[in-house]
Amino acid sequence: MLGGSIAGLLTARVLVDHFAEVLLIEPDALDGNAQVRPGVPQAHQVHTLLPAGRSQLDRWYDGFSEDLLAGGAQVATSVNSRVYYNGRLKVPVPGVEMLMSSRPYLESVLRRRALALPRVSVLRDRVVGLDIDGSAVRAVRLASGDSRDADLVVDASGRSTRVGHWLEDAGWPAPPLERMRVDINYSTALFGRPEPEPEVAFTLATWGVGRTPEGLAPAIVDAVEGDRWIVMLGGYGADKPGRTLDALREVCARLPAPFPAVTSGELLEPIAGYTQADSRRRDFLAVDRFPARLIVIADAAASFNPIYGQGMSSAALHVSCLSQYLCGNPDLNQPARHFYDLQRVVIDAAWQTSAIPDLALPHVEAPRPPGMKLAQAYGNMLVDGTVTDVHLARSFAEVTFMRAHPNTLLHPGVVARTLGLAAARTITGRVSG
Ligand SMILES: Cc1cc2nc3c(=O)[nH]c(=O)nc-3n(C[C@H](O)[C@H](O)[C@H](O)COP(=O)(O)OP(=O)(O)OC[C@H]3O[C@@H](n4cnc5c(N)ncnc54)[C@H](O)[C@@H]3O)c2cc1C
Repeated sequence: MLGGSIAGLLTARVLVDHFAEVLLIEPDALDGNAQVRPGVPQAHQVHTLLPAGRSQLDRWYDGFSEDLLAGGAQVATSVNSRVYYNGRLKVPVPGVEMLMSSRPYLESVLRRRALALPRVSVLRDRVVGLDIDGSAVRAVRLASGDSRDADLVVDASGRSTRVGHWLEDAGWPAPPLERMRVDINYSTALFGRPEPEPEVAFTLATWGVGRTPEGLAPAIVDAVEGDRWIVMLGGYGADKPGRTLDALREVCARLPAPFPAVTSGELLEPIAGYTQADSRRRDFLAVDRFPARLIVIADAAASFNPIYGQGMSSAALHVSCLSQYLCGNPDLNQPARHFYDLQRVVIDAAWQTSAIPDLALPHVEAPRPPGMKLAQAYGNMLVDGTVTDVHLARSFAEVTFMRAHPNTLLHPGVVARTLGLAAARTITGRVSG
């Protein structure tokens, strides 16, 4: 397996059920609590674990949530969370919980569990090519000059995978790569948290497309382990808010509580900036020839605008697709088309929830599919409805938390409620205007 991060550590758990030996090949040192991960440059940015990802992590590593909580991770509930949309506080959705921790800590807990599995070992090296013999991948070539034979190769090397080049170098077509430029900028900062159990532990401030007031930014503040707050400001294109402490405090002073108070506290580490240029996905079913015994998973297959928080949960869902594929006793000498069919459902749904709404961003240059304007108008009405209506808020949350397919937002009941509330808002607006 290539990569010992979220996807690799989860895949190891699935593979031990099917193979005698699992080898994780990873360039970074994975010993102990390793928090320094050059191979994961996004690690210091805020990372939200969506409920779908949490259930998959608990599925593959029983008691994972408890382990995370035992080390100080916090729980966001409908009582201690605040979500603002266009400056208005949204109605809470009872019964929905999210675990909040830093990404390095989450990964260290996952790593501890994965490396304790029987028959799993780690090789510190970097994969630089594939040996394809006849119709199947037989070995991976390593930067050290060595190579390793494998019955199944899983590429979990993240969004900068070279798998397309490796296939071409071996005389195979590269799966087409679709890229949609979004240029999302993050600034993330850690502050001390004097209160162990703050009244408000999670706050998200978002705006509809084109509605962010001058000088503000979409923003998150989470209580995380180690009695810390993690604060993130986001922007698009040339807008890189909060890259200095003064700039961050200036923006947060205009955001709702607890942003001003949190950011007036002690900054614990330098502010970490990060820019992700695009959302991207590879289509493994579009090539007429694809070698057997090769699985490409998680960010190496598709990675999205991180503002939607889908990455780790997508990785976990791809891993469950791999389990379903392997449990069907597939012929490994044939390309893993069934796996890619299963994975495509997850990728399409995540793309529909993130890349399609991003087409509304004025700076995004990409062809707009027919019906886009209508879909966006409906999307805006729906999200406006979620501010006050708990039923719509729940349906929307199930989709954004990756527990329901985006098409559920087109069920007749949801459409009727959305249109009814939009009509009521128009009438109220006219009467009061
Ligand atoms: C700014 C930002 C914020 C994000 N926020 C969230 C969030 O809130 N919630 C969420 O769920 N997701 C979030 N994500 C996405 C999340 O980081 C990724 O989806 C997730 O890490 C994917 O896991 P992965 O294992 O596929 O890849 P990665 O975590 O990127 O790991 C890839 C691994 O492969 C190794 N590797 C690389 N090349 C090779 C090679 N040639 N051979 C062997 N190993 C190799 C690397 O060293 C690394 O360990 C965010 C991403 C960004 C950029």
